[in-house]
Amino acid sequence: MSSAFGPTAASSSTGRDLRFAIVGAGMAGILTAIKLKEAGLSDFTVYEKADRLGGTWWENTYPGLSCDVPSHLYCYSFALNPEWSHTFSPGSEIQAYFERVASDYGVVPFIRFGDEVVSCAFDNGRWRISTASGHRDEVDVVIAATGVLHHPKYPDIKGLDSFGGAVFHSARWDHGVTLDGARVGIIGTGSTAVQIVSAIVERTERLVLFQRTAQWVMPAMNPAYTPEEQAAFRRDRHLMEELRAGVSQLFDGFSGAVVDAESPQMKMIEDACLKNLEDNVTDPGLRERLRPDYRAACKRLIVSADFYRAIQEPNAELVTDAIDSVEPGGVRTADGELHELDVLVLATGFKVDAFVRPMSVVGRDDRNLEQAWARRPEAYLSISVPGFPNFFMLNGPNGPVGNFSLVEVAELQVGYIMQLVDRLRTGECHEISATQAAMDRFEAARVEAAKKTVWATGCRSWYLDDRGIPAAWPWHFGRFRSAMVAPEWEAYELRG
Ligand code: NAP
Repeated sequence: MSSAFGPTAASSSTGRDLRFAIVGAGMAGILTAIKLKEAGLSDFTVYEKADRLGGTWWENTYPGLSCDVPSHLYCYSFALNPEWSHTFSPGSEIQAYFERVASDYGVVPFIRFGDEVVSCAFDNGRWRISTASGHRDEVDVVIAATGVLHHPKYPDIKGLDSFGGAVFHSARWDHGVTLDGARVGIIGTGSTAVQIVSAIVERTERLVLFQRTAQWVMPAMNPAYTPEEQAAFRRDRHLMEELRAGVSQLFDGFSGAVVDAESPQMKMIEDACLKNLEDNVTDPGLRERLRPDYRAACKRLIVSADFYRAIQEPNAELVTDAIDSVEPGGVRTADGELHELDVLVLATGFKVDAFVRPMSVVGRDDRNLEQAWARRPEAYLSISVPGFPNFFMLNGPNGPVGNFSLVEVAELQVGYIMQLVDRLRTGECHEISATQAAMDRFEAARVEAAKKTVWATGCRSWYLDDRGIPAAWPWHFGRFRSAMVAPEWEAYELRG
């Protein structure tokens, strides 16, 4: 197989031999392993702390889990999948897809399962790796593919530990707990909670959704592909490519809208969500409580075909009074009412500023990532941190997040990183990292642009950093694609 990334190291027979560590065997780590192998750079280990690959798709198993990016876009461009069952296929299918692709591309034997990288230290031109089991490795390049939405955020609610029933975070679903006929409370109204509500409401005796903030909900049907459609995809891959290109274009349009809060496209998104609310929630009181008081897409837009139906089921209750405390019998709200429950699900999101942490990363001159990120996480183009040579991140700080295909994002980033690696492979230099000046310039422009996005129009969301500035790629997705085509070499310091 030849590399999709032009003149890679594979074409050089005289290059340096490089050893790599990939941290994480989720979607991005598997992708990196495949691309290194394709480029003939087969001296690598993928470190995965779990016992299975798949990352977020392995960790999250909650009922209703699916991806609200259409499946034909949420997959690798080089491994299109005619078998997708639905426009938005379920999480278990996505997990099976990544396992199958990893196996088909022969990268599973490269994964060291059940061993967490605890530290990476740059020493004498190489990275020394230590794992939780005490294993040691020494590599030339570290590629961190550790994910973003990874560390569960538990709410700080008085008495939470005293709850007498089962309580767990959505990303740590306890399948031993029965929901059938149970009184289930769900805290949170993000993408996760909405999927759970729609999936379980009919099984529960009573479902209570604790909403702190109402959400904008974009309607989207989720039809199954017919056997005939799947057969056509199998026969002709162009059909999948066309479909993918069409969906990608739609998402490009969305990226153009959200980065310009005043754009007509943004207005269209808001109108579609508003119409969804007006047309599908019949009770005027409930409708008002579900009506957001901030701009659509300021928080990550919810995409759902059936949330409004689910929350209107006779056994469902939307509670908008603030949570006061949790007691052994249930959740007490500020109005004094006790909502009696058997199960409490915390769909309260993730700590999003950890990135590669808690792994300790010590760069040049004994400076560690905690010091470099003392203010907040930053990386040039979300990939490289000044002073941390040959350490590259996928889906690192301030990259494209939101309603995009992170697979597409990771593929573009890997293509870019492979060009950095080429410089090392050909021996042109031994150490490569972004310059501080490039980092500062990029960050200043990014922050200015971020202020004009819809994410900055006044709402609480995980997109915002400690200053309230969106920690995300604030330009059109097309600009990200262009930036990833080739590195601007003056932004990098090449040593040795
Ligand atoms: P989230 O969007 O961060 O939502 C967390 C929810 O918990 C919010 O509604 C928040 O309320 C609420 N909450 C947090 N602490 C609370 C407290 N102390 N009291 C009451 N409510 C509290 O988390 P998420 O739903 O897990 O989604 C995270 C991200 O994962 C998504 O934005 C998306 O990027 C990704 N995701 C994607 C898909 C997909 O289909 N592609 C599916 C699921 C998740 P406030 O709104 O008031 O803060």
